[in-house]
Amino acid sequence: MKTQTLEIVKSQQLKAKPSAGVPFGTTFTDHMFIMEYEEEKGWHDARITPYSPITLDPAAMIFHYGQTIFEGLKAYRTEDNRILLFRPEKNFERLNLSGARLSIPPVDEEQVLEHLKTLIELEKDWVPAEPGHSLYIRPFIIATEPNLAVSPSKTYRMMVLLSPVGPYFPGGLKPVTIHVEQEFTRAVKGGTGMAKTAGNYSSGYQAQAGAKKSGNADVLWLDGIEKRYIEEVGSMNIFFKIGGEVVTPALSGSILKGVTRMSILEVLNSWGVPVIERRIAIDELYDLYEQGLIQEAFGTGTAAVISPVGELNWGDKKMVINNHEIGELSQKLYDTITGIQTGRRPDEFNWTVEVK
Ligand SMILES: *Cc1c(COP(=O)(O)O)cnc(C)c1O
Repeated sequence: MKTQTLEIVKSQQLKAKPSAGVPFGTTFTDHMFIMEYEEEKGWHDARITPYSPITLDPAAMIFHYGQTIFEGLKAYRTEDNRILLFRPEKNFERLNLSGARLSIPPVDEEQVLEHLKTLIELEKDWVPAEPGHSLYIRPFIIATEPNLAVSPSKTYRMMVLLSPVGPYFPGGLKPVTIHVEQEFTRAVKGGTGMAKTAGNYSSGYQAQAGAKKSGNADVLWLDGIEKRYIEEVGSMNIFFKIGGEVVTPALSGSILKGVTRMSILEVLNSWGVPVIERRIAIDELYDLYEQGLIQEAFGTGTAAVISPVGELNWGDKKMVINNHEIGELSQKLYDTITGIQTGRRPDEFNWTVEVK
């Protein structure tokens, strides 16, 4: 790795830390990370600056054709006051995978991880100590060339923002009600579903609004071609415990490869719990439900880690799972993963990276 210099400009006016209970993603720390890309120079000018608005030409390509990608991960404070990241190298690996799909040039994964650690070290007082709280990390890249041509930008900017966040479920894990979407599609094979890119999210808002109107917390997406095979929930991957076995949809090209999903597969394997990645049709799920074989369902992602699903609504068919209660396996997985993330449990998989 060629060590790149990192210029640090410190803020002269530090902000007050927020009180507990601030809504997700609305408060940012004193500093941010920025880096630029130009064809001739590659990625350069890595710097940490005071958090502030940025100026872009209104013709910047991000505004017109959506050439942008992002990541989401968290830093946790341990009881003995260390700061841990959870598998951050997987996020930068995925950033480059998303980038390849959106024709955005790759970053040096090790180098940006080092820069992230420097940023968090500088902002370490912002990593909350309260149980269930953490510092959310949002790396992203935008196309900055002022040009209305429909072609990849020649210049880019990468930034990293830090935002203290509270627990996803303030009262503890709580099963959610999910609408199985039959009209709208999130992604299709060959599209951008496997990339964390802006358009995948805004294109889901209309379906999510419909689901909320009918009393559901989120949407379960089906495949875009047959509207039959289960893909994922909102910004979470999905798992089912069926007759003692755990099943999750295989990565088809239209599903996001979650770091939490990957970790849960590894934990289940280490416990000897049978787990399969395969195609699973919604009608098959309903048949299994009618046979009383669906024991648990849960979504997985960085935000909630585990989000138990208590009810699935597929047209006029309702599946109530585990009597709207948290499943034993869901709880055990939640305790295990959050235990490793926060240093309360031994990191037997060597997943955490300490910031120091
Ligand atoms: C980010 C995301 C996930 C979860 O990924 P994690 O790495 O586990 O946080 C799942 N699905 C979608 C669509 C996502 O954007």
